[in-house]
Amino acid sequence: MSTLDVVRAFPGKFRVVAMAAGRRVEEFAEQIRQFPPLLVSVEREEDAGRLRELLPSYQGRVLSGSEGLEACATLPEADTVVAALVGAVGLSSAYAAVKAGKRLALANKETMVVAGELIARTAAETHAEIVPIDSEHSAIHQALRAGNAGEVKKLVLTGSGGPFRKRPLESFEEITVGEALQHPTWKMGPKITIDSATMMNKGLEILEAHFLFGIAPEKIEVLLHPQSLIHSMVEFVDGSIVAQLSRNDMKFPIAYALCYPDRFPNPFGDLPLAGRTLEFEEADPRRYPAIGLAREALAEGGAAPAVLNAANEVAVAAFLAGKIPFLAIVRTVADTRAAFGRRNCPQSVEDAREIDGEARRVAAECVHRFAGARV
Ligand code: MG
Repeated sequence: MSTLDVVRAFPGKFRVVAMAAGRRVEEFAEQIRQFPPLLVSVEREEDAGRLRELLPSYQGRVLSGSEGLEACATLPEADTVVAALVGAVGLSSAYAAVKAGKRLALANKETMVVAGELIARTAAETHAEIVPIDSEHSAIHQALRAGNAGEVKKLVLTGSGGPFRKRPLESFEEITVGEALQHPTWKMGPKITIDSATMMNKGLEILEAHFLFGIAPEKIEVLLHPQSLIHSMVEFVDGSIVAQLSRNDMKFPIAYALCYPDRFPNPFGDLPLAGRTLEFEEADPRRYPAIGLAREALAEGGAAPAVLNAANEVAVAAFLAGKIPFLAIVRTVADTRAAFGRRNCPQSVEDAREIDGEARRVAAECVHRFAGARV
């Protein structure tokens, strides 16, 4: 995982005190041997047993499930928690870290989408710092340091446009899972890669930016930038636009979040700019309807962003499993939003979980209708 690469690249600067993993137990055991932490956690209890067998001389605690995740996120010895789970499942541990006043190095954008108000309010109460790892938000976090809050005119989130920026719209019906998994400029996990192909990723990032930086929705723009060299920009009232560039490698935003407010010498290679071209274009709403859906959810407020996110997670999983066509992803999200009544925004993690669960049930019905259908 990239965070451990960053820790390795700065010997003596960081100490790993807790680690959590999913189901890849052998790989995790190797990481534990390298960074023996005080506490580790895996997704399932049976894997915890397997881990103890693999590491007979490991002295630390081995936990599992959401209890294990929260124990890792609130361990007294930890100053910074890197939250990199994918999806709404990451919310409770991210919330626990913020509640405990830790610095939250946040890669899990769904946390801010599902419960942005709750997380922001709690962080204000506990003085927990949230430093984003999502590359666009890391760029904005860095660019915002060039002026005062009152001097910000707008945020410009850049996006590559994904693999279908030039594909004829008539052929979107034929898009296969393999084609959607070919991201032109970033190497990422399957969920976020599909989100980049629909550009729901950019929609979620509008919501994330709103809740992270407290910027009004109409001041957050999306701009296609196929080269992915500029990770995002801030325009100030005096007409100056401040952009952040670095190599397309998550180690840069991770190192920034871990070292902030300091900067450390970059061990990961420079970004040569001579001969490079920067292009920008508008995101066509017919090609990327997901961006409009996300804006509508943000405008409606309340539970709408959480419903949007849950429906998208269900739809992307169904697409990856070959159950629904590509175009049905966004339709599932739209139909779920339409079928789900208005609700207040989650006031607690339990609240968020309930909304998330209910939205998933509605989305599953929509998926069932689209299954095998030509959309
Ligand atoms: Mg991003």
